[in-house]
Amino acid sequence: MWTEKFDLHSHSTNSDGQHPVEDVAQMMSDSDVHCWSLTDHDTISGWDTARTAADTHGLVFIPGVELTCMPGLQADVNILELRNQERASDSWHLLAYFPTIEFHNEQHKQFKAWLAPLGEGRIPRMMAMVEKLAELGMPVDFDAVLARAGDSVGRPHLADEMIKSGYVETRQEAFDKWIGDGKPVHITRPKPSIVEACAAVHAAGGITSLAHPLYYCIDTDALVTFCLESGVDAIECFHRSHSDAYRFQLWSAAKDSGLSVTCGSDFHGMMYNQTPGRMAVPTATLPLSIKNSMPSLDETVHQS
Ligand SMILES: [Zn+2]
Ligand SMILES: [Zn+2]
Repeated sequence: MWTEKFDLHSHSTNSDGQHPVEDVAQMMSDSDVHCWSLTDHDTISGWDTARTAADTHGLVFIPGVELTCMPGLQADVNILELRNQERASDSWHLLAYFPTIEFHNEQHKQFKAWLAPLGEGRIPRMMAMVEKLAELGMPVDFDAVLARAGDSVGRPHLADEMIKSGYVETRQEAFDKWIGDGKPVHITRPKPSIVEACAAVHAAGGITSLAHPLYYCIDTDALVTFCLESGVDAIECFHRSHSDAYRFQLWSAAKDSGLSVTCGSDFHGMMYNQTPGRMAVPTATLPLSIKNSMPSLDETVHQS
């Protein structure tokens, strides 16, 4: 049985999304999503607003976050070569979901405290990138970059400021030439390992799913084994960027090993030609705690 009622990966202006939380909730509802997770990068500041907005639209809200972690494995050179890529992403993204968390209780506070330095680490890193850019003859206003971000400043915000200053024409060009992984202006920041992040999420009663695994250039069986050995509860097989063939290959590997799967549009905004929802996922392999947050699931599946 498959369903399109879940979208477990989306961003708002609290990180690098285009739309405020309320608008993301509205668009999820318009796309016939029934169970929605807001997963801004390294911040949970949107949870309260998101829950209220979800209530307004009759959506089931799963509090979430996308954690920037150190890579779990080294990219497979054969896959890099096959895809004609120099290198894989210098971080792995781990989605964390808290379907049963009580807001503002001790677990919530502890997780927030664990998360704070990850979000705060973004500011000195951005400052250093702005300094490097100035050294290369491309000064941008640091405060203007910060003003573009909600609570979680990132490279897309810097790229937009570079476009405004006329140094590049598109975000892609900014990443390809200057600020992408391994490029002259790129600076890494402290990141937890996947194992550390899983432990912090589990301590707060949450579960994890490895986001968009395609980007990491790892063999699917090796990825699944890594997740099982590192305490990752699920894998985001059904990510918008995955081809049908890759989804099927990863889903088969996950199913064979008993690992759960999740789905997500990774919606950042209409200006990127993205749409929320419409992500088909097999209900049987969703994580149990996510399935349980939508008791009407069987009913809705039969109706659709
Ligand atoms: Zn991501
Ligand atoms: Zn994302």
